[in-house]
Amino acid sequence: MKIHPGHFVAIVGGACAGSEAAYQLASQGIYVAVFEQQPLPYGKIEDGLPKWHVKLRDKEEKKINEKIAHPYVSYIPNTRLGDDIQFDDLVKNWGFSAVLLASGAWRDRPLPVEGISQFANKGFYYQNYFVDWFNHYHEPGYDRHQCEVFDGAIVVGGGLASIDVVKILMLETTAKALRERGMDVDVISLEHRGIIKKLDELGVKFEDLGIEGCTLYYRRRSIDMPLSSISGEKTAEKIAKAGQVRQKILNNAMEKYRFKFQELSVPLAPLSSGDRLEGLVFQRSEIVDGRVKVIPGSEHEVRSPLTISSIGSIPELIPGIPSKGELFVIPDEDNGKLDGYEKVFGLGNAVTGRGNIRESAKHARLVTSGLLEHYLQWTDEDKARIEAGGTADEAEIKERDLLSIAEIEAIREKVHKAQQHAGYDNNYERWVEKHLPVRLENM
Ligand SMILES: Cc1cc2nc3c(=O)[nH]c(=O)nc-3n(C[C@H](O)[C@H](O)[C@H](O)COP(=O)(O)OP(=O)(O)OC[C@H]3O[C@@H](n4cnc5c(N)ncnc54)[C@H](O)[C@@H]3O)c2cc1C
Repeated sequence: MKIHPGHFVAIVGGACAGSEAAYQLASQGIYVAVFEQQPLPYGKIEDGLPKWHVKLRDKEEKKINEKIAHPYVSYIPNTRLGDDIQFDDLVKNWGFSAVLLASGAWRDRPLPVEGISQFANKGFYYQNYFVDWFNHYHEPGYDRHQCEVFDGAIVVGGGLASIDVVKILMLETTAKALRERGMDVDVISLEHRGIIKKLDELGVKFEDLGIEGCTLYYRRRSIDMPLSSISGEKTAEKIAKAGQVRQKILNNAMEKYRFKFQELSVPLAPLSSGDRLEGLVFQRSEIVDGRVKVIPGSEHEVRSPLTISSIGSIPELIPGIPSKGELFVIPDEDNGKLDGYEKVFGLGNAVTGRGNIRESAKHARLVTSGLLEHYLQWTDEDKARIEAGGTADEAEIKERDLLSIAEIEAIREKVHKAQQHAGYDNNYERWVEKHLPVRLENM
């Protein structure tokens, strides 16, 4: 590749947001290095989106592959910011024109129940850990964490991801009950048909399986669940309509997958036996002026061998990156600029907190177009000049703060070393083939 003076941008995280930003920059003639902690850059598409979304997953992963395979993009797998490379080093010493953080939201929001953390993996899981297991446990040679599934589980949540968690529990308990009756049904076809329809086809009644079912506990009302959003001004009419839509989504899911729902319930305290969690004490709540108000004296125990918290995901804090509470300090979501840093920007789920594929890519486009226009001051003329094989002279390099060919070569050399260290031979297609997990639907 003939190198030209210009810009070289580092991106941390190569999934929906990171790959979109990489593509937007690369297609303008800007060099990009994507640092990804995992072998493959699929993020929550691989470890979050439940494995029954076969078509959506494959479509999104194909899109990511096409973007990462752009000749201006250097991919560095197995390299975690905060461990393998440090934030300060990346920003100050590597020589990049800008650093983009597209590291998503991988930390579960802590369940606000005192003492709950001591029960982690002892009758209690957080959603990200649980869904990651569900998506991969079928793979031959799977050697990461195992999760136990019990009937009658408690799920604390209310958003779309928590509906997926209750579905996973119902699919797993139903598949297990069928296996005990000599019927081997995979969870993907059970999900696609819906539990009741699939059981009909098998001539089995759900009631005969002896399954109690799990229960989703939500602190507000069903009509408040963030299962559909309200765009623009929140008029009474729009709120009422959204409430109906939410109720319908919930009812449909409950009918198909047979989980139970308890609204206006706030978890208060753990119930334990030895070192295991055995349920939660809940309080009833009411909604007063739009706020959740617990009702004194309404405490009641709910016993269960399994509790899963699914109350949202937040970014993992990375040493050196300014954060406040749960989030990176990014005062303006639209430009994504990290507080106190001229050339560091955040994008995707790491910033928006909206767990949505399209939203992540859209935000990545917004941030990169601002970066190109205002920070790098890169125009279509630059792109056209590069395509025509043109270059920039020393005066222009200095005036526009471009990186010289020597500076770009120096970064490429460092990137190459990091790739070697990660065991990556720069053949992206072959790398994907080698690392793509075995799919349940192909087994
Ligand atoms: C259960 C569940 C169901 C969902 N269902 C849907 C759905 O039906 N439709 C929909 O649109 N969305 C859905 N989503 C949300 C969607 O998957 C995510 O919002 C979207 O994939 C986020 O993309 P992203 O690129 O912003 O972040 P991520 O996908 O989280 O990507 C971040 C990337 O950064 C990498 N990374 C993180 N930290 C580091 C580090 N320190 N160093 C290097 N690399 C790092 C990660 O490995 C990852 O590849 C669901 C999510 C969950 C959990």
